[in-house]
Amino acid sequence: MNKLSSTVLMYHHIGMNDLLLYDREYAVERGMFLRHLDLIQRESLDVVLPDEWPKQVKARSVVITFDDGYKDNYVQAYPILKERGLRAVFFVTVEHIDCAGYMSWQDLAEISAAGMGIGSHGLTHRFFSMLSTSELTEELKESRRTLEERLAVSVKMLSLPGGRKHPELQTIALESGYEYIFTSQYQFVDNISRGPFLNIPRIAIRKNTGVTCLENILRRKPGIMWRNRLKDQFKKVIQNLIGHKRYDKLYRRFQHMRSDS
Ligand SMILES: [Zn+2]
Repeated sequence: MNKLSSTVLMYHHIGMNDLLLYDREYAVERGMFLRHLDLIQRESLDVVLPDEWPKQVKARSVVITFDDGYKDNYVQAYPILKERGLRAVFFVTVEHIDCAGYMSWQDLAEISAAGMGIGSHGLTHRFFSMLSTSELTEELKESRRTLEERLAVSVKMLSLPGGRKHPELQTIALESGYEYIFTSQYQFVDNISRGPFLNIPRIAIRKNTGVTCLENILRRKPGIMWRNRLKDQFKKVIQNLIGHKRYDKLYRRFQHMRSDS
């Protein structure tokens, strides 16, 4: 049997209205999102949820994910996905649900009933790397328990706020009932077999990810990964050098400068 492989796309905002400046880097315009979906469908890749991986028909699939649970996911992305019969995974931070700018419990109930996947993006969006073991356990258990209770669905997927890991993440996640951990590491998923899948890389889709760029990614054009992996490595070195908190401050200041110019 052929080895199955997948490309997991990580979106944040769809649409550009009312965004804080530093959020815009990860905001994709609605028109561009439509063109991305056109391309995915034109490439005739299977668009699946991760629990369908073992049953995946084609050699390659795409998983569409959204982080943070923004309201625009419900207003902009969900109707388009539904109309096209596509499913995606929405990772939500439990304490942000029902807050301004984020999806409500009602929105989540509706998208979940329509077959969309719901995953945890933590309880508070604190970066896991900064938490003690007991704090991390609470973030993972409580967020999963609340989502399952309120939405009456099984929650087995987790994505990491800020992509930050914790040394005991996999152990605690397994103990807390998760079977899929999605990271922000820029890489494809290869050799899919049976789970649990505790280190699933994703391709971050940014404001300036155009159709040709996505096409190169989906076709796995040789050389497409090196620039982004290099960026990833560079980011890690800087984070380790100056610490995560100072890195985040700098990152936000840099985003403001770019948006001003
Ligand atoms: Zn996040």
